Amino acid sequence: MNIHEYQGKAILKSFGVRIQEGIVADNPEQAVEAAKKLKQDFNSDWVVVKAQIHAGGRGKGGGVKLAKNIDEVREKTKAIIGMQLVTPQTGPAGKKVNKVLIAQDVYYPGASETKEFYMSVLLDRAHGRNIIMYSTEGGMDIEEVAEKTPHLIQKEEVDPAIGLQGFQARKIAFNLGLSGAAFKDMTKFVAALYKAYDATDSSQFEINPVLKTSDDKILAVDAKVNLDENALYRHPDYAELRDLAEEDPTEVEAGRSNLNYVKLDGNVGCMVNGAGLAMATMDIIKIAGGEPANFLDVGGTANAETVKAGFNIILKDPNVKAILINIFGGIVRCDRVAQGVIDAYNEIGNIPVPIIVRLQGTNAEEAKKLIDESGLKVFSAIQLKEAADLVSKVLS
Ligand code: GDP
Ligand code: MN
Repeated sequence: MNIHEYQGKAILKSFGVRIQEGIVADNPEQAVEAAKKLKQDFNSDWVVVKAQIHAGGRGKGGGVKLAKNIDEVREKTKAIIGMQLVTPQTGPAGKKVNKVLIAQDVYYPGASETKEFYMSVLLDRAHGRNIIMYSTEGGMDIEEVAEKTPHLIQKEEVDPAIGLQGFQARKIAFNLGLSGAAFKDMTKFVAALYKAYDATDSSQFEINPVLKTSDDKILAVDAKVNLDENALYRHPDYAELRDLAEEDPTEVEAGRSNLNYVKLDGNVGCMVNGAGLAMATMDIIKIAGGEPANFLDVGGTANAETVKAGFNIILKDPNVKAILINIFGGIVRCDRVAQGVIDAYNEIGNIPVPIIVRLQGTNAEEAKKLIDESGLKVFSAIQLKEAADLVSKVLS
């Protein structure tokens, strides 16, 4: 589960990670109040207005702006809230901005140079270890650094049973070229960051940039946090961090009906029981010359209710020109599923696209008979290839 920068920073701060302080705002007046409070609390004359969306690269897309006085705070917030922000990570349609983070300016001049680093903590599944990835090349597109100058990205493996050791934090600070107060502060930063990642059961904490300020403090300017959904039951208070406005509305609705749905770009809707069979179904659609419009796993019990919910979700997508239902009747009997399809069809009424149903397993023959005799615009098949060929036939 992705969360916003301001939420990620609040988590970091609660674990003792120094952050670029800020206050979230929904409108220009709130933004002005926030800026005044930041001036009071942190003596920050300038502030940055940062669009809060679940995607990185906001700076490049015009979603991060420096404001040098209160009028600029109001103006820049006005311009950013409501905008459709396009970044390298949003796709061409962009994402609508509903909130901004008003943050203290941490790039102030001082005794030494400011310096941007990259740091992330993530799970390396292959090694069963946590990894701290870090680089002197912070602030920029890390994928580009990885591609062009991979030797500038370093990795420190952490055994989850032992945790981060002091020497590892010092090694990282040393490899980042730090000394003196900044070196010491970086070791604290790394230790607190690892603790935050570990204690929240996260899949990823990415801080780009980590900043060394001109007075040698180390802090998180950005925070991209991915909480592990499978561990959310251990953190009931994190449920409220979810922002449904950032997620695909059809996927949210599917989640409410306990359906596992992922929208894709093709024109053949699919409804399948079991994730593996759903993947195989998408493959066979492609082999038959079609393109799947979605991934949809309706789970073990494919009854009239789930089939109906599945139809409703699939039919929300205007690209869908045919629907392929592929159910293996292992625990569920095929004739029950067939009856479910017929009932759902009759309840929804006029389904505007042809439906191909492939039922295999217990009572498959009876199921085919039910479908064939229903008088509905539903085609039945028992073999998967047969079903896929039917799909390409109805589409051509
Ligand atoms: P991203 O573009 O979505 O990764 O957003 P970031 O939070 O990383 O901000 C993008 C860039 O904005 C940073 O790399 C900085 O160059 C700039 N920026 C962020 N905070 C400040 C600040 O306090 N002062 C100034 N002058 N620039 C900032
Ligand atoms: Mn960033």
